[in-house]
Amino acid sequence: MDFAISPELERARQKVRTLVHDEIIPLESDPANYDSHGNINHDALGRMRARAKQEQLWSPQMPKERGGLGWGPVGMSVLYEEMNHSIFGPVSFNCAAPDDGNMYVLNKLGTEEQKSCWLDPIIDGKVRSAFVMTEPHPGGGSDPGMMMTRATRENGKWVVRGHKWYITGAEEAEHFILMARTGDGARDGLTAFLFHRDEPGWEITRRIGIMGPEEHGGHCELVFDGLTLDDDRVLMGEGKGLKVTQVRLGLARLTHCMRWLGLARRCVQIASDYAAERKGFGIKLADRESIQIKLGKAAMDIDMGRLLVMRAAWKLEQGSKARQDISMAKIHVSETLNRVASDMIQICGAKGYSTDTVLEWVYRYARQALLVDGATEVHQMVINRFLQAEHGDFWQWGKGHD
Ligand SMILES: Cc1cc2nc3c(=O)[nH]c(=O)nc-3n(C[C@H](O)[C@H](O)[C@H](O)COP(=O)(O)OP(=O)(O)OC[C@H]3O[C@@H](n4cnc5c(N)ncnc54)[C@H](O)[C@@H]3O)c2cc1C
Repeated sequence: MDFAISPELERARQKVRTLVHDEIIPLESDPANYDSHGNINHDALGRMRARAKQEQLWSPQMPKERGGLGWGPVGMSVLYEEMNHSIFGPVSFNCAAPDDGNMYVLNKLGTEEQKSCWLDPIIDGKVRSAFVMTEPHPGGGSDPGMMMTRATRENGKWVVRGHKWYITGAEEAEHFILMARTGDGARDGLTAFLFHRDEPGWEITRRIGIMGPEEHGGHCELVFDGLTLDDDRVLMGEGKGLKVTQVRLGLARLTHCMRWLGLARRCVQIASDYAAERKGFGIKLADRESIQIKLGKAAMDIDMGRLLVMRAAWKLEQGSKARQDISMAKIHVSETLNRVASDMIQICGAKGYSTDTVLEWVYRYARQALLVDGATEVHQMVINRFLQAEHGDFWQWGKGHD
């Protein structure tokens, strides 16, 4: 068992760290670098994306032959955590959701023609993308089996009608991956489609307000009323939609965790710096046991999250789906992020609640981590399913857990 990372990965980590600390973090303190939804604005983003390309740190998760750096889940775990020391980090390297998960699934499951048309422009940073799945009641949310948006065969084409919401990035995306029902089977009733923003037969009816800062393009409600697609827009094959979803969400959940660990570490850094300087009742905050306990617990929880993420990443590289491991990481890291953001605000007092640090930004953002890509309870259900099915084997070391 070796917990060390390769010299090559360590060099890449150092390079990411330098760009994040020297050039991206400094942008956070100037309100002029934000858009009206609390994210980095397009001018500043364009500059940082150009810098990431110049430093040869662009799209590290994509194959070298498509313009990336060829890092798999283990390398991504190290690099994404480092990137999200800044709230503007991942998007500057083309490693933010939802593009990150969309690139992964297109690269894994697309035909060569689909990759050159739908994937390469996202890798190059020319277009943004969205993943369209969740629906209002009585449609599919936590349970994709309830999906109601339908694609029916009409005159040799697929025609889509239905209603979706909370679609991240939809207002700015050009490339969309859409999940729709094409049959009634529990496992083969869904199909994944690709469509372009400019195609008729669908519209965004509203951008839904949320409690936290927003990804570029917001979280939107979409209505489909006759979007018409040829067969070459089917990803992986008719009836394979559930499989597409599982492939996409598996790694996407883990990459969320990788990024959230970086955010949590940044919060601890801010609070540690404050506690080291601030005095009260005759001593420094950092010398108080109650503060030390909070910081120590945060560090331990973050490191436990890193171990869970790295184990899942390693298993993915061994060819396992690592479903139980990813569910555990998702629950633990999302809860850690929420707790750490709150505790670090507490340590910083009023300053923690102010906009003078990014703590309040992270605190508002963190709440969605307990919901997106599977609510906590759904992941607990998944873990328990493995526990009940495998009995004692559940605890076996080095097991695949498919
Ligand atoms: C910020 C944000 C971004 C999002 N981006 C996208 C996107 O880009 N594309 C997309 O398709 N969707 C997106 N979503 C939607 C997200 O995937 C769904 O919110 C999630 O799948 C849960 O579905 P739901 O909201 O319909 O909750 P529901 O299915 O209605 O569940 C509500 C609650 O019930 C509980 N619950 C559900 N199932 C169980 C169970 N089995 N056992 C116990 N309790 C349970 C959980 O507490 C859950 O939070 C986004 C959501 C948010 C908040």
